[in-house]
Amino acid sequence: MSNDVLVFVEFSDGKATKPGLQALGAGHNLASQLGGSAIALVIAAGADAEAANLGKNGASRVLVAGGDAVGNYSPDGFANILAQQAEATGAAAVLASATPAGKDFVARAAAKAKCGLAADCTELKADGGKPMAERPVYAGKAVATVSAPGQLWATLRPNVFGEVSSDNTVTAESVSVSFGPGDLKAVVQEILAGVKGKLDVAEAEIVVSGGRGLKDPNGEGKANWDNLQQLAEVLGAATGASRAVVDAGWRPHGEQVGQTGKTVSPKLYIACGISGAIQHLAGMSGSKVIVAINKDDNAPIFKVADYGIVGMVEDVVPALTAALKETLGS
Ligand SMILES: Cc1cc2nc3c(=O)[nH]c(=O)nc-3n(C[C@H](O)[C@H](O)[C@H](O)COP(=O)(O)OP(=O)(O)OC[C@H]3O[C@@H](n4cnc5c(N)ncnc54)[C@H](O)[C@@H]3O)c2cc1C
Repeated sequence: MSNDVLVFVEFSDGKATKPGLQALGAGHNLASQLGGSAIALVIAAGADAEAANLGKNGASRVLVAGGDAVGNYSPDGFANILAQQAEATGAAAVLASATPAGKDFVARAAAKAKCGLAADCTELKADGGKPMAERPVYAGKAVATVSAPGQLWATLRPNVFGEVSSDNTVTAESVSVSFGPGDLKAVVQEILAGVKGKLDVAEAEIVVSGGRGLKDPNGEGKANWDNLQQLAEVLGAATGASRAVVDAGWRPHGEQVGQTGKTVSPKLYIACGISGAIQHLAGMSGSKVIVAINKDDNAPIFKVADYGIVGMVEDVVPALTAALKETLGS
C-alpha cells in the first residue's frame, strides 16, 4: 500500500463542489502527514480541463473517469469506479464528502473493496504512519477514533475541513470505465433542479432555522416565517427547520436538520423557536457559533448555544434583521 490518499471530488454543473474541494484539502493534509500525495478522482463527462485545475487545490494527480458510461449519476456506476481506483492506486486512505451522493455510493464502493467505512468524520490524522479518522457517535455525545487494518475509507462532514491552495501543475489522466450502462441496476434518467439559487442547508456557511415556536405559516405564524426569510437573506444564509415543522408540512424535508434530517456544521447557526431536542442537536451541535432565540430560558437549546436571547421570535428576529442591515449596510 502507498502513502497516498485518494479523494473523490464531487462535480456539479462541470465544476468541483465546495464539499468536494474541502475533501481534497483534507486529503492533501492527511497525505502530507503520511508522506504521500493527494490523488483526486473526478467522475464526470467532459470535465478534463476543469479537473486539471485541482492541482491548485492540493491534488498531485488528477484521475478523470468520463465518457458516456458515467453519464448521469448512478450509485452502482460511481461505486464501481471508486472501488477500481482505490485498488489501482493502492492508496492508504480513500476519502469523499458526506454529501447526499457521497452517503449514497461510498458505502457501496467500500463494500466492493471489502473495507469498512467511517462515515461523517470530523477529524483526520496520521498516527504511527497510519491514517485515523474521528467521528461523532451517540448523537454527538462521544467521539469514536477509527483506524483500519488495510485501506481507511471515510466520508467527511461538509464545512468541517478547509480547502487548501497549492501550486501543483497537473494534467488530467483518463481512467477507463470497465462497465457499460447495461451493467447498472438503476439508471438515473433525469435530474431536476430544486428551487433555483436556493442554498443547501448542509453546505451553507450560515444557517437560520425555524421551529414550532414560529407557529403555522398558513395562519398566525405567517409574519414569523417571512421575518425568518428576511433574516436569512440579510445574512446570505440557508434556511433550516426542526422536524416538528417539517412533519407539520410547514417546511420542505430538504431543510430538516437533525438525526433524521441533515447534519450541518456552518460557521453560524441561528435557532429560532426551536426547543433543542437531542435529535435536533445531533444535526447542528457541530456548528462553530450557535445563537438561540427562545421565549423559555430553560429550553435545552441554550445548553449548546454560544449566545442566547430569551425573548419572543416576533420581536427578536425583526430587531436582529434591522440591526444586521444597518451593520452590514445591506
Ligand atoms: C427518532 C426521532 C428522530 C427525530 N429526528 C429529528 C430531527 O432530525 N430533527 C429535529 O429537529 N427533530 C427530530 N425529532 C423530533 C424532536 O424530538 C423534537 O420533537 C423536535 O425537534 C421539536 O421541534 P421544535 O423544537 O421545533 O418544537 P418544540 O419542541 O415544540 O419547541 C418549540 C420551542 O419554541 C419556543 N417558542 C414557542 N413560542 C415562541 C415564541 N413566540 N418565541 C420564541 N420561542 C418560542 C418554545 O419555548 C419551545 O422551546 C426526532 C424524534 C425522534 C423520536
